[in-house]
Amino acid sequence: MTQFSNEPSFRESVNLSVDKAMTAMNLDPGIAQAIKACNAVLQVQFPVKIRGKVEVFTGWRATHSTHRLPSKGGIRYAPYADQDEVEALAALMTYKCAIVDVPFGGSKGALMIDPSLYNREELELITRRFTLELVRKGFLSPSTNVPAPDVGTGQREMAWIADTYKHLHPEDINYIACVTGKPVHHGGIQGRVEATGRGVQFAVQEFFRHSADVKMAHMEGELDGKTCIVQGLGNVGYHATKFLSEENGVKITAVIEHDGALISDDGINIEDLYQHITEHRTIKNFPAARFEENGKAVLEKECDILIPAALESQINLENADRIKTKLIVEAANGPVTFGADEILTKKGVVIIPDAYANAGGVTVSYFEWIRNISHIRFGRMQKRHDELRGHQMAAMLEEATGSRVSESMRNNITRGADELDLVRSGLDDTMRLAYQQIRNTLESEKNVHDLRTACYVASITKITRSYLDIGVF
Ligand code: NAD
Repeated sequence: MTQFSNEPSFRESVNLSVDKAMTAMNLDPGIAQAIKACNAVLQVQFPVKIRGKVEVFTGWRATHSTHRLPSKGGIRYAPYADQDEVEALAALMTYKCAIVDVPFGGSKGALMIDPSLYNREELELITRRFTLELVRKGFLSPSTNVPAPDVGTGQREMAWIADTYKHLHPEDINYIACVTGKPVHHGGIQGRVEATGRGVQFAVQEFFRHSADVKMAHMEGELDGKTCIVQGLGNVGYHATKFLSEENGVKITAVIEHDGALISDDGINIEDLYQHITEHRTIKNFPAARFEENGKAVLEKECDILIPAALESQINLENADRIKTKLIVEAANGPVTFGADEILTKKGVVIIPDAYANAGGVTVSYFEWIRNISHIRFGRMQKRHDELRGHQMAAMLEEATGSRVSESMRNNITRGADELDLVRSGLDDTMRLAYQQIRNTLESEKNVHDLRTACYVASITKITRSYLDIGVF
């Protein structure tokens, strides 16, 4: 994990932000302590024979809260993973689920591994063995603890996890709901792969619907034409910037990756760059932009919107003063340290916080989990019925007006919503409502002066209510 000696750890950073919110809302210290406490942490070490030699792997699964079940959160594969990071991410999941009204507790897992050093078969062996450890120790099941993809994992790993669980619990009719982010043909849901990036787009769109908020960030006007820099063109960064540039007219003026950065004031075509990365495994030699070796310095380049979508602690005490953007959208978890947040907020930079900005992933994971336990694809029962209704409406319109309904209007009226339409609509609604709750909190709470604190206050209010409902307090 990236950490600087003069700054608190990631977990401490999350707790400091939460403390700030709890102080602002004058929360009872006992309740505050109960909400902040991490319920359980499992550390496992297990051997796997790789290329004739035994290797021992270390992994963690932290359950931060269980006031709602299952507890939910991704599993990351990274060489820098550690327990502090897992606990911080599990805590973030608790607040994240609450802000977007996903009725889950918070959890997170990690395996200390550099996946690039292993081939497909080896990764499958390691993932299946890790799953076995989690299931046997009660840290993975459809009703108590449900992982999802994160850094270094994707649909493939989720399919292996689901299959391993199924073999251990063939009697569990809901086995496929033990993990989300699965391939669509293996119990996944349409729209999950791009969900976090799509959620970032919906968050930015909602922000720009409120002119007072746009003004607060020292900007004016529409999203169209705004400049944007992204750090990390992985799952989240790629989808967020692809949608923002292709559908909202945002100009991506720089892309920062682990091996440098690309800059173009005319805007970078994200799809072209993504194809280039897929083919060459580097951003270098991309013809339509200037390459800069020192990627991190490009975070400091002027732009309207900065989207850190890679790792935590990227904007910290060392560089916060030099950041020149107007709006930071935390697509990654914890990309801005507590100290950097204070500096940036003082400078007037607006930050849309991670607990809200990247909640699209868990929101669509929730939809996938519901689909799995209800054993039916969304839209299956009503799509054709809606289409029939549409045809009847078009016929009625034609009869009443005496003129033909145009082909494009007929297509719009008669098209029944499929699963992807419903997922997108549910995600858009979720991101809009959550943002409105956050800004209402900012407006109504006199001790709250920034979106992150407002987000935590709104989220902690819901968690407190939930603990009260079940009689813990
Ligand atoms: P990913 O592994 O798909 O992508 C990460 C990208 O960051 C890669 O392209 C990698 O090359 C790049 N990167 C690594 N080190 C870098 C560096 N030093 N500078 C610039 N780029 C660097 O991971 P992801 O799933 O896109 O996750 C990114 C962030 O979003 C993480 O913080 C993760 O926790 C968070 N997140 C992911 C999801 C999800 O659904 N995948 C959901 C919520 C939050």
